[in-house]
Amino acid sequence: MTLTREALDRAARQKAREVLADAGIANGPVSPFKVAATVGFPLPIDDVTMPPAAFGALYKEGNSFRILVSNTCPNEGFRRFTICHELGHLFLDGHLDELFESGDRHFSEAGQFRGQRKPWFETQADTFAAELLVPTAFADPVLRAAGHGLAAVRAIEAKFETSLSCAAVRYAELAGDSVAVILSRNGTVEWACASGQMREHWWGKRGLKGENAPRGSVTAYLARDSKAVAAGAERSTEGWLNDWFDGAPVISVEEEALGLGSYDRVLTVLHCGSIPTPDQERIRQDRDRRGPTDWREAMRPYSLDRYEDLVDD
Ligand SMILES: [Zn+2]
Repeated sequence: MTLTREALDRAARQKAREVLADAGIANGPVSPFKVAATVGFPLPIDDVTMPPAAFGALYKEGNSFRILVSNTCPNEGFRRFTICHELGHLFLDGHLDELFESGDRHFSEAGQFRGQRKPWFETQADTFAAELLVPTAFADPVLRAAGHGLAAVRAIEAKFETSLSCAAVRYAELAGDSVAVILSRNGTVEWACASGQMREHWWGKRGLKGENAPRGSVTAYLARDSKAVAAGAERSTEGWLNDWFDGAPVISVEEEALGLGSYDRVLTVLHCGSIPTPDQERIRQDRDRRGPTDWREAMRPYSLDRYEDLVDD
């Protein structure tokens, strides 16, 4: 497979849109069963007991297939995502050859999204599932009405009946402003997803996986209280972007953290009002290196608004 990650993601989203159109689905929540009914052959979907490392599986039975879902999925949204991931293997080019090259059973890895280094077909099936469950065209108006931060994530979760993790990733992917969502366990990041505006910066492209939530963050505070995590407690504060992203400018960030109950993880949503573009950041760094050119510049207080005023000089 020689396609880039971006090309695979694009193909997965395009296929999900075609599948939705074929199934006649024009609004959320999307029924995975309605989608499964379009494959043209019987496709049983059964809940079973599975090894702890897997939440879903695809079995090949002659020329037919069967989708299995673990009965330990932490919630219904997670279960729906798992079914859509397995559907992705059926709809996306090259997956069946890859999965059933040797054997007739494929177990999909349990970690959703960017939690671990996955084979290309697992990542592509996740992208397909995310676009199928939360189609961009259906989600945009929901996000516009919902505002930002955790409120937007909850709006996606409610409208599309997804897990909060899936809703959070879709929020970050679709947000027009500076947003990052982070999943952590005991204060250690499992995966992070930043919006396009953040990923324009070198520091925003970093995965954060394996790093600890900043000491003063409500994420770290919440992680120390397992009862609060289990009870679905929510905390929020104002922090600094560079505490989360090494090398980012010193900009105030709104941090919201939510305990995910029996899933035993904390979901964090970071939202910045505005951040400088990479060009504005470069100009500022050049200026800092040169030092102030006269006393007026030296006296000027640090101000975020000035990023808009910066010009290349
Ligand atoms: Zn899979």
